[in-house]
Amino acid sequence: MRFKPFAAISLATVLGAAAPAQSAAGGGAEPAFSADRFRADVTFLADDRLEGRDTGSRGHEIAAAYVASQFIALGLKPGVENGGWFQQVPFRSATLAGPVGLAISGPGGSRSFDNGADAIVGPSLAEEKQDIDAPAVFAGYGIDAPGEGIDDYKGLDVRGKFVAILAGVPEGLPSEIAAHLGDDKGAAAARHGAIGLITIYTSQYARVRPFASRAGGVRRALLGWVGKDGAAGEDAPGLRAGFILGDAAATALFAGARRTYAAVRAEAEKPKAHPRGFALATRVHLQRSSAWTSLVSPEVIGMLPGSDPALRDEVVILMGHLDHLGMRRNAKPGEDAVYNGALDNAAGIATMIEAARAFAESGAKSGDRPRRSILFIANTGEEKGLLGAGYFAHYPTVPVGRIAAVVDLDMPLLLYHFTDVIAFGAGHSQVAEMVARAAGEMGVALSPDPMPQENIFVRSDHYEFVKQGVPAIMLATGYANGGEQQWKAFLGGAYHRVNDDLSQKIDWESGARFAKLNYLISRALANADRRPLWYKGDYFADLFAPGAPRAVPPAGTSTAAGAGH
Ligand SMILES: [Zn+2]
Repeated sequence: MRFKPFAAISLATVLGAAAPAQSAAGGGAEPAFSADRFRADVTFLADDRLEGRDTGSRGHEIAAAYVASQFIALGLKPGVENGGWFQQVPFRSATLAGPVGLAISGPGGSRSFDNGADAIVGPSLAEEKQDIDAPAVFAGYGIDAPGEGIDDYKGLDVRGKFVAILAGVPEGLPSEIAAHLGDDKGAAAARHGAIGLITIYTSQYARVRPFASRAGGVRRALLGWVGKDGAAGEDAPGLRAGFILGDAAATALFAGARRTYAAVRAEAEKPKAHPRGFALATRVHLQRSSAWTSLVSPEVIGMLPGSDPALRDEVVILMGHLDHLGMRRNAKPGEDAVYNGALDNAAGIATMIEAARAFAESGAKSGDRPRRSILFIANTGEEKGLLGAGYFAHYPTVPVGRIAAVVDLDMPLLLYHFTDVIAFGAGHSQVAEMVARAAGEMGVALSPDPMPQENIFVRSDHYEFVKQGVPAIMLATGYANGGEQQWKAFLGGAYHRVNDDLSQKIDWESGARFAKLNYLISRALANADRRPLWYKGDYFADLFAPGAPRAVPPAGTSTAAGAGH
């Protein structure tokens, strides 16, 4: 799971009631799922000697070799065109080289601001040297969603300008749509011709993610994949800079405008408020230099060929991210310095391997092979911004049009006997029906998203495939049966910390059950007569798969993680 700095924030925590568990006997001889094998994989991948599996590190390379060797043992076929197991992803790493020049000028004169104190400006992956001077415009929350009745750019001319926007999204949007709109702000600014995006803080956002907590972004390296054309992969083409302003600089930015920054901020505090945009009377001058280095890191890809000649050219992808955060800098001697990522995401990779084993073994024992082919992928660069999956979605080893669906495995919280799950992304397509059936078979309930403020829908690799128009889901273990306390304790105390390690009380039996559930879902996707269709009228279908055929959702389908809020 990646940390998402500028995603939507809604303080409302909606706790969904779990649907009653169904019980139904699974038919036929099901493959066995082993807690011990699950434990073996997690134990190796989360070992200190893998040094936190950072993208591009030796520890990650060793982990990738381990996953490839498991694929070989299961009899999978290499998933890369050249007959290899590794799709090598080229990355660019950027750091700031020297001080950043940032000045705001207007009716009150010109004033310079310090990077790290008044503003947070990171490095650029697109231009090594930049000198940009342009007027500024305020555009509310910076949301471009006419379908939801929100068009913050209406009536504003932002072409060639810096657009300043409030962090977060207004309250009241369904959770997955809110998460997407929070993530889409850079692209929205680019679509309207802006060259820079300035994020300013509402008081509410400042309480959740204080400005000071972001100051490390000034020193941190930024990583991005590089396309086959040699240019950095771009979600927001034409947008040359994105940064955060603190209160003093934001106040200066609004000098001489129709309203002050304080007035806008006060309005944003009110329930259901949605401040409107207006032209500003100031210009922004940004100068920065970035130093680049190159690295490569692999996606590990294995293929189980399908059995049905009419369907085996289509693939179902089952994937999880193998990378994590590496080593902790500034650890004192004797202190734990390894981000082991036992649950994030050694557990997801172990789930994938155990599901792959189930497919391979039922094929070998009873000739019960899935009709569609299945691609198993261990992603890289997830913690750095869904980079490996983003690269694969742009340069897939099978054409995107032949990817029927994606099941992502990220940070399953396997610290208790889960009795419900949240299926992020499922409610938009017929995948919902398959998830409901598989969960029902295991007596597991489906719950709505109980933590919409976490924006989980856009924080893992499946989202990169949603953006390519492919139905994609990720299951999270739910709040029932003690899950709520476990989630809160984990997010507050272990998530992205060195203690997400093997000292946690991992419930290995839950790992085996989670593997079985994801196996049943993948198998249903692989064996269905027709690939899952997006639902008619669905927001993400209309946005990312406008030309694709649609299905009418059956009455009573409500597995959308974001339903109801
Ligand atoms: Zn993570």
